Amino acid sequence: MRNHDIMEKVLLQKADSKFKDEIAQKIGIEEIKPCYTCGSCTGVCPVRKVIEDFDPRRIIHMIVLGMRDEVLSSDLIWFCCLCNSCYFVCPQGIRFSRIAAELQKMALSEKYVDENFLKRLEPVNSYLQDLCRLTMFKKVNEGFRGTHTMPCWRKDTVKNG
Ligand code: SF4
Ligand code: SF4
Repeated sequence: MRNHDIMEKVLLQKADSKFKDEIAQKIGIEEIKPCYTCGSCTGVCPVRKVIEDFDPRRIIHMIVLGMRDEVLSSDLIWFCCLCNSCYFVCPQGIRFSRIAAELQKMALSEKYVDENFLKRLEPVNSYLQDLCRLTMFKKVNEGFRGTHTMPCWRKDTVKNG
């Protein structure tokens, strides 16, 4: 058996099929809608542009596969700066920022990370938040449109319509 097959088998044996429902319940939504894996979220994400490994589509996929341990122990869940850019382009209306915020709370309460980790993360977070803000201002100025409407886009649409 190839290494890749062994790894997949091990991961599927450990899979927690209720993981995505658990997250949905914590967020207060009925379900995390099926992801089309279209990649629009990843394409628009400003964090992805500076941290190549950060990929919201992949994290959603891991959640759907029930990879609870892998997701909650991953540093990557801490890099979402909650800017909501991906929500506005997702055809399924998946609000990744809410999922990420919940994953962070779970990782903290289940001791996957500690206070020292959060302290070390502070400068990275403040850099990522500035970057996200700047990117979104730029996109709005360029007339960027998504499947959902941000308040600033709506004003612009009314002005142009
Ligand atoms: S934009 Fe939505 S549907 Fe497309 S990959 Fe991202 S989460 Fe899935
Ligand atoms: S909320 Fe912003 S930073 Fe987080 S995954 Fe979506 S686009 Fe990226």
